[in-house]
Amino acid sequence: MPAAARTTRLAPTPSGALHVGNARTFLVNWALARHEGWRIVLRLEDLDLGRVKAGAHEAALQDLAWIGVDWDGTPEVQSRDLTPYREALARLATDGRVFRCDRSRTEIRNAASAPHADDGETRYPPELRPPRPWPTGIATWDANHRLLVEPAPEVVHDEFLGTHAFDPGLEAGDLVVWTKLGVPAYQLAVVVDDARQGVSDVVRGDDLLASAARQQLIARHLGVPHARWWHVPLVYGDDGKRLAKRHGAHSLAQLRADGVPAAAVIGWCAASLGLIDRPRALEPREFLARATPDALRAAMPALRARPSVFGADDPRSLGSLG
Ligand code: GLU
Repeated sequence: MPAAARTTRLAPTPSGALHVGNARTFLVNWALARHEGWRIVLRLEDLDLGRVKAGAHEAALQDLAWIGVDWDGTPEVQSRDLTPYREALARLATDGRVFRCDRSRTEIRNAASAPHADDGETRYPPELRPPRPWPTGIATWDANHRLLVEPAPEVVHDEFLGTHAFDPGLEAGDLVVWTKLGVPAYQLAVVVDDARQGVSDVVRGDDLLASAARQQLIARHLGVPHARWWHVPLVYGDDGKRLAKRHGAHSLAQLRADGVPAAAVIGWCAASLGLIDRPRALEPREFLARATPDALRAAMPALRARPSVFGADDPRSLGSLG
């Protein structure tokens, strides 16, 4: 592959059914990649052992294929080989930046001096850090490990959403990079994979915008570049909450079972992005023709200001679009 080639990834967590919001983000990712000639890696993020469900891996592939999203090469599955993540943790430990943390969630919450930012996140209290120096090797892989994160601004330049400043040290404090289940935490796994898979462009939901700052910081400590970011505003239910599994009727599998054509779902996504005037059946190649990088860039800021809602009546109206 030439050095200049760019790569993106579709990174579903096989934790259950994909919904219309996931579909929209994946369609945007796919369209950008196909317009720009990026390679697309499909990566199944199955290390969050508490969330992964049997059969969800195959279901995610089926859902993507249903909406016409394809990728290049065979899927990458995180759990198949933990070596790269172990090496990364060992490297962070060598620099003396990682400590083993056996504190319970309750202990951390009780000790937190400035707990509960808006999103309910608890900052890891610096006073709970063990005395230094910290071991520069990993004694056990079956323990939580945290990365030292001091307060400092971390600026994220997003291709869709502009510039956003974060302070991971203030917002989250020392980040969990390894879990006692013997697997890397999400933040570390993503940085390691994006680097080793040559991912130059990350397109994903804007619930992960603050994570981009954390991932930049981890990438710096690992001495690897971070990707360009393209965060796509989420879709909400008409209860005002981001679309999730509790909105069961909105899962792609359920819509499919109810006889809603994929083209109707794609059409809804296109209309919500302002690519067509109102929902109508749209084939994947028609979506692609409309979802040019310029059109997508133009759509995103407004979507952040005025989020799209996929309401309780939408599945029925999609059913009539076939
Ligand atoms: N696997 C994550 C999710 O499904 C996405 C992670 C990422 O794009 O960085 O929410």
